[in-house]
Amino acid sequence: MKVAPIPENESERQKSLESMGILSTPRDPELDRITRLAERIFKTEFTAISLLDGDRQFFKSRVNLSASETSRDISFCGHAIMHDAPLVVGNAINDERFSDNPLVAGAPHIRSYVGVPLSNAEGFKLGTLCIIDSKTRNFSDSEIETLKDLAHWVETVLALRYTERSQKQLLADLDAAHRDVMIDSLTGVWNRRGLEELLAREMSSSRIKGGSAGIFMLDIDHFKKVNDSYGHLIGDKVIQGIAAIMSSSLRDHDIVGRFGGEEFVCILPGLRLEQTMYLGYKLCDTVRDQCRVSDMNGNPVPITVSVGATWISNESTGQYEPHDILRIADEALYEAKESGRDTVRYRALYTFGSLDDLKD
Ligand code: GH3
Ligand code: MG
Ligand code: MG
Repeated sequence: MKVAPIPENESERQKSLESMGILSTPRDPELDRITRLAERIFKTEFTAISLLDGDRQFFKSRVNLSASETSRDISFCGHAIMHDAPLVVGNAINDERFSDNPLVAGAPHIRSYVGVPLSNAEGFKLGTLCIIDSKTRNFSDSEIETLKDLAHWVETVLALRYTERSQKQLLADLDAAHRDVMIDSLTGVWNRRGLEELLAREMSSSRIKGGSAGIFMLDIDHFKKVNDSYGHLIGDKVIQGIAAIMSSSLRDHDIVGRFGGEEFVCILPGLRLEQTMYLGYKLCDTVRDQCRVSDMNGNPVPITVSVGATWISNESTGQYEPHDILRIADEALYEAKESGRDTVRYRALYTFGSLDDLKD
């Protein structure tokens, strides 16, 4: 096996990649849309946007790949970024660079691969958009041209989104190691720790700038039954599906995270009170209509969520800590469950000195 080479400009390349703030970040629905589309077009087993970061390749978006990263030295993408043209491998067994690569000799038994290098505005190659299969395959010129077009789209999204994102400011304050422990590995969205940290920041910014935010706590209805009837793997797919639906149906600067098991939290900065209720119902509708996970016979698994909503403004945030806000959203969620599930209930923050009620 030939270990993935390191480019001559590696330290500048790495610095440029880090300055974009895209490493160790939550899933990006726009990039996920591109990898999903590539999967549908090419019908390959795996699709990924891989970024070469230090000694790892980090999958910024992935379809059917369970790992969020692998080591760089065994990566195909590490080879791909050494050239401008796409790296095309029809049968890895016949390629001396890869024939005894552990990803070829063992799981996922890669046989074919096409990776188009992705460059940023400074001209550094960040990684690739790649399609991978455990079957050998010949790729036509027109297929490679199509993948190049999609890769160009990825570059455009990276250039646009990672200069303008409002979460970027929050992310920029945290180093990558700190961010890593704030991302949920199953879904790629923020985890509980990340949510609490971002909520604290959002609250102090509403206090200072006089803004407001809607807060949702969502819980999958009768999820124990989903696991019992279809198994844990399907259960995990449902959790991943809901995270993806929420990320893509909310706005760029909304914050989505997995609070625990089958519970999610959304923080929607700038939302007015009346919009909060409306969006809560919309989220219920979106999950019911769009969560498409199939059981082992290909039949759809019906999924609904209940939502507890609350709302913060600059007047109310002063007296509260993030966990108080989440507790109120959780109380509203409990009411939504009591009301029959697949619905939203709202609970206002107590603004007139009944904070003691929260502290028992
Ligand atoms: P309710 O409508 O009242 O919320 O009912 P429920 O069955 O969803 O609630 P309950 O809290 O009793 O069950 C939650 C289940 O979620 C139990 C647990 O096994 C499952 N769960 C938690 N985390 C995961 C996970 O990561 N993957 C899978 N597959 N299941 C999980
Ligand atoms: Mg629960
Ligand atoms: Mg539940």
